[in-house]
Amino acid sequence: MKKKICLIYTGGTIGMVKSEKGYVPSEDAFLKLLSQLPEFSNPAFPDYETIVFTPLLDSSDIAVEEWNKMGRTIASRYAACDGFVVLHGTDTMAYSASALSFMLENLEKPVIFTGSQIPLYELRSDGRDNLISAMLLAASEHIREVCIYFGGQLLRGNRATKLSSDGMHAFDSPNYPPLVKAGIDFKFRLTADLPPANGPFRFQPFEAMPLGVLKVFPGIQFDLFESIMTESLRGVVLESFGAGNVPSARTALLPVLKKAHDHGTLVVVRSQCPEGKVNLGSYAASLSLKEIGAVDGGDMTTEAALAKLYYLFSKGEKPEDVKALMEANLRGERS
Ligand code: ASP
Repeated sequence: MKKKICLIYTGGTIGMVKSEKGYVPSEDAFLKLLSQLPEFSNPAFPDYETIVFTPLLDSSDIAVEEWNKMGRTIASRYAACDGFVVLHGTDTMAYSASALSFMLENLEKPVIFTGSQIPLYELRSDGRDNLISAMLLAASEHIREVCIYFGGQLLRGNRATKLSSDGMHAFDSPNYPPLVKAGIDFKFRLTADLPPANGPFRFQPFEAMPLGVLKVFPGIQFDLFESIMTESLRGVVLESFGAGNVPSARTALLPVLKKAHDHGTLVVVRSQCPEGKVNLGSYAASLSLKEIGAVDGGDMTTEAALAKLYYLFSKGEKPEDVKALMEANLRGERS
């Protein structure tokens, strides 16, 4: 039987047209372009339905509300469709794919994010292959997770990050090999490291909440950040040097983080290096973070760490459980 794919267009370059203000998404242009793609009427192509979001967005404007809308849409079509393709701007695609990977609990079907660097209507668009391959992969029996297909690779969504603002291979997952490489055939790398579903599919909406991402740099004056470290800040992802290292006491980091910790803010340490992992305590420069109760972010991306904080707090997990769960592998987001 033919598979049925739900194609959701949220916005992004793939369906954009030129306007006086620069590129803007357009529903009419997108639907017209789709109807002109011969692949969509090829008998070997899966059946599909199209859902177009209003308003269509540049992905810079996508946040919690839109993640919930994507999650709710997928949940409402979950029983009727075999797979999902989410067309999305590239700028925040890795954040959205990470968010959806947590929201969609016990997912057993493919959810493939894709988009393009050049709009579909332009001659050299990369959108055509990205869209068609994503549709075919969404019809696959082998995938039961949220992924990003881009530039010939299928990546685990919560491992992916945008690495190029203008290259056609804009995404990579430096700490995790691609799930599929697209050559003449799709070469699947079947994995056993994705925790299995342990109940029926369920959509967990996120709540908007105060979270932060703080990048450490040489000479950072942490006391300037003290004013944002209030009781209302639920969590902060600290982008440290190397394996979790931060400047020593001279720059007043520890008192600020200690204060945050005492307020109940969860401090998650990840590395500024795209590749490799945090290992708190391997250097004296990171031991202090361990001592104030910071979470070892391992090899998670910032996108995944942030999405996971939203998820765990939205689920109402107790603070001590959030720490343990941040250090556990829930959706293949960390090794
Ligand atoms: N600014 C666009 C967006 O993220 C870029 C893209 O789609 O590639 O929506």
